[in-house]
Amino acid sequence: MSSSNYNDICPKCGGDEYTITQNTRPFSMSSECFDCGFYMYSEEGQSTLEELNELREELDMPKLKKLKEQY
Ligand SMILES: [Zn+2]
Repeated sequence: MSSSNYNDICPKCGGDEYTITQNTRPFSMSSECFDCGFYMYSEEGQSTLEELNELREELDMPKLKKLKEQY
């Protein structure tokens, strides 16, 4: 697993002590503001072909016959 860190501006307080950490395989992203305490966390997921086609239909995209192969 590799991870990278970078600092950004906090969307809640505008402070510059907002640290974002990204991990790969499995993919996840977490962030924490060291000024106001705001944090966010997300991790990877996998849609099924059916779920994806429902989303694509809503966006007027053509349906897929199969999911694109992943690396
Ligand atoms: Zn903040």
